[in-house]
Formats: sequence, C-alpha cells, structure tokens
Amino acid sequence: MQISAEHLELITEHALRDAPDECCGLIAVNGDVVTRVLPAVNEAHSPLRFEISGKALLSMIDDIEDAGEELGGIYHSHTRSAPYPSQTDINFAAGWPGIEWLIVGMKTGQPEVKSYLIEDGQVSDVPVAIAG
Ligand SMILES: [Zn+2]
Repeated sequence: MQISAEHLELITEHALRDAPDECCGLIAVNGDVVTRVLPAVNEAHSPLRFEISGKALLSMIDDIEDAGEELGGIYHSHTRSAPYPSQTDINFAAGWPGIEWLIVGMKTGQPEVKSYLIEDGQVSDVPVAIAG
C-alpha cells in the first residue's frame, strides 16, 4: 500500500502510546492508497495479542464503506517480537482475505513497519511505499 508519512506516524504513535500492550486499528484505502487510519481499542490489553470488539469492528467498517472507502488493512504492533505475523495472526487472517496486515515492531524502541498478505496460511511481504 501507499501511505503518507502523516498516516504512518498516526500508526507508530499509537504503537508507542499503547506499549507495552499491542495496539490495533484499521486502515481505509482508495485503491492502493491509504485514505484514513482508524485506531481501535485492544480489548485484550495484552502485550501478546490484540482483540477488537465485534461491535467496534462493524461500526468502523460501516464508517469506511459510508465514506466510499474500502478496508485495506488491519494494523497492530508487536512490542516484544519481530514485526512478522504470529501463528495467532495467521489464524485470524483466515477470516479476512485480501487485506494487508501491517505490523509495527517495537522491540528495538524504534518502530519498524512491515506489511504482509496472508492467504491460505501463506505469508508474503508487501512493500509499504511512503509518500509525502
Ligand atoms: Zn501479531
């Protein structure tokens, strides 16, 4: 996906704010271009996993669709491990085909952002192009 420096900063700031717990949220796109970042509450309040309530998820997806955007990705942070999908992420992704998984690695203290497509349990890297 293509993301502006400002949108990316919203995500990395959210990761810093919620550390040592994982943060999470949705990314709205138009085509391949990020139009909006929608932070969510990690209901698990955990450094090891994230959970978005079904109600919050539905309301954010309605919001995205009402604005004529599409759900392009889900972001979350890994505060103790590398920014690579965990088995939990891979299992969760099975219910969300076609969207990118953007993960902010916080292990080194310096946010490291990676994005992936997870299809049929297979993880592939997707470039994150920072514009503006
Ligand atoms: Zn994860």
